[in-house]
Amino acid sequence: MSNLPANPPQVPLLDLKPQNREIEDELIDVFVRVLKSGIFILGREVENFEQQIAELSGTKHGVGVSSGTDALLLSLMALEIGPGDEVICPSFTFFATAGCIARLGARPVFTDSCPVCFNMDVADFERKITSRTKAVIPVHLFGQAAEMDSIMEVSRKHNLAVIEDAAQSMGAGYRDRRVGSIGDFGTYSFFPSKNLGGFGDAGMLVTNDDALAKRARVLRNHGMDPKYHHLLVGGNFRIDALQSALLSVKLPQYTAYCRKRAENAAFYTQELSRLDTVAVADVKQCGCKISPAEGTPDDAKMILPTAYPHNEHIWNQYTLRVRGAGRRDALRALLSENGIGCEIYYPRPMHRQECFADLNSDAGTLTNADILSQEVMSIPIYPELTREMQQQVIDILSKFVS
Ligand SMILES: *Cc1c(COP(=O)(O)O)cnc(C)c1O
Repeated sequence: MSNLPANPPQVPLLDLKPQNREIEDELIDVFVRVLKSGIFILGREVENFEQQIAELSGTKHGVGVSSGTDALLLSLMALEIGPGDEVICPSFTFFATAGCIARLGARPVFTDSCPVCFNMDVADFERKITSRTKAVIPVHLFGQAAEMDSIMEVSRKHNLAVIEDAAQSMGAGYRDRRVGSIGDFGTYSFFPSKNLGGFGDAGMLVTNDDALAKRARVLRNHGMDPKYHHLLVGGNFRIDALQSALLSVKLPQYTAYCRKRAENAAFYTQELSRLDTVAVADVKQCGCKISPAEGTPDDAKMILPTAYPHNEHIWNQYTLRVRGAGRRDALRALLSENGIGCEIYYPRPMHRQECFADLNSDAGTLTNADILSQEVMSIPIYPELTREMQQQVIDILSKFVS
C-alpha cells in the first residue's frame, strides 16, 4: 500500500456497481428462485416482466427479446419489410437503427436532425418519402421524445408504418403519452448503459396492435406456432427468464432512477448556464429544421441540452455541444487527464459509415448530422453520481470555456 495522498475521486461516465449494491440481496433471492424453478426459457418470469413494461409504456402488449437491436429487427420483420423497400431514419443515431433495415435487404434513407433536441428533422423526413418508402424509425435520442405528432401525421398521410426506437428513452413522456406507445411499434433496450440497465443484453418491443404483437411473438420463436410448425421464417430472439426476473427487481426503482438523472441534469444546467460563454439550447428553435447557428449567441463556446416543455426527458445522456474546430476533442483530452469519463455519441453519422457507402445518400443535405457529430460530448449523468463528483466535472468545464 502506498502512503501517497489519494488521487481525487475519479468520475466515471457510468458506474453500475452502486445501483446494484442497493438491491443486491433481492437480486440474489430472485436468482435463487429462478435457479430452483428450472424454467429458463420464456414462462411466467418473462410474461410478468412483459406485462410490467407494457403497463409502464401504456401499451397493450410487450414482447421480451434478446436486445434492443433485435426488437428493431423483429418489428421490421413483423411489418414484412424487405428488398425493394425504403425505411427512413435519422443519420445521427446509434448504428442499430439503420443496421436492422439493411440486414433485411431494405434500404435505409437518412434524415437530418434537429440541433436542439438531436432528433429527426420532420421536414426532411417528409422530403425523403418516395413510392418505395414503407416505414419510418424516429429515434428518441438521449432520453427525449422526437416530434411524434408531426411524424405520425406525415406517416398516416403516406401510409407508412412507424417504429419508435426508444432504446434510450423508455418511460419518457411526449405530451400525454409515453414514447413507444404512439407508433405501430416501440422498441426498448436493457443494455447496461440504458436507464433500465440489465445484466447482459435484453430488449422489449411494445405495441397496441393485437395482430402485430402475435406476429412478433411467433417470429421471436422461429416463426413456430404450434410447436414444430413454422408459419414464418423467424429466429431465436427470446429474452431469458433470468434476465426478466432480475430486471423486475429494478423496475420499481425506475422512476427514482430517472428522477435522479433529471436532478443531475438540472444541477449541471444551473451551474454551467451562469457562465458567459455557455448557452442553453434555445427551445424556440424547435421544429427540428433550424440551422444550428441560429438563435444561439455567436460567442457561446458550449451549448447545454434542454427539454421541450411538452417532453418529459429521462436524461439517458447529458449531451453538450462544444463549438469551434477541434475544441470538442480538446475538451475530451482535458477531461480524461482529470479522471473524468466522457463519450462521443456519436462521432460519425450513418451517412458517412463505410458499410453504407454504396447507398448514394445525399450526404450534402445532412448538415446538422455532420455538425452534431463533430460537436457533441456526453458527460456523467448516472443516478448515483454525487454533487461532489458533478462539481469536479463543472470545474473542469468552467476552466475550459473561460
Ligand atoms: C442501445 C441502442 C440500440 C440497441 O440496443 P441493444 O440492446 O444494445 O441492442 C438501438 N438504438 C439506439 C438508439 C440505442 O441507443
